Amino acid sequence: MRYYRDEAIVLGGHKLGEADRIVVLLTREHGLVRAVAKGIRRTKSKFGSRLEPFMFVDLQAHVGKSLDIVTQVELKEPFARGIMADYDVYSAATVMAETAQKLTEDEPRTRGQFLLLLSAIRSLCNMEHPPRQSLDAYLLRAMSLAGWAPSLVDCAQCGMPGPHRGFSAALGGTVCTDCRPHGTALTSTSAVNHMAALLTGDWTVAAVTPVHTALEASRLVTAYVHWHLERRVRSLNVLERT
Ligand SMILES: [Zn+2]
Repeated sequence: MRYYRDEAIVLGGHKLGEADRIVVLLTREHGLVRAVAKGIRRTKSKFGSRLEPFMFVDLQAHVGKSLDIVTQVELKEPFARGIMADYDVYSAATVMAETAQKLTEDEPRTRGQFLLLLSAIRSLCNMEHPPRQSLDAYLLRAMSLAGWAPSLVDCAQCGMPGPHRGFSAALGGTVCTDCRPHGTALTSTSAVNHMAALLTGDWTVAAVTPVHTALEASRLVTAYVHWHLERRVRSLNVLERT
């Protein structure tokens, strides 16, 4: 029987049978893991609340045929407690966890995504920035790490130096007048500048962005992430059929 030990962030899970739970974890060295925590829903479970979403744990598991089996869990940082206490923080953390799961599904190397998620959740818990800005910064960085960095100055299509006022999720970011597909909404350059500040961690710039500009940037980030993640999920479906 093969065992492993690793650091992990709990992303979610669901009930299994009477007393067990399948837990989804993003580990530092073993990628995205689905593991069974036996007896976790009994009152006297040895796992306690350590496998609730957003807990940062030290995990021991043995490799099963389809699912791994959790044998031991030690709590490293109880992020869940800070996150559950505030609705905006909870919403942001939920989107972070879902995005991290989608980006690491079937990826053998996930250390970068693990470290990014860990620092994002820690920062969120410490209320270092407004939750929505922490989320947008995380999303932009996670997408970049996955190879989908948005173009935020030059035209994503032809490379013409920017700034430009068109933003196309499908084409990969800002686009010039010539490349802009018909019907592309025009954006303010300040919203795109705000995204650039979030991506590079320039929080002094991001902190003074007017609320309506930050909201416009949030909508662009969401559209961008949705477009790429849906395409990724679709491409995975195609792979599974062939
Ligand atoms: Zn162009």
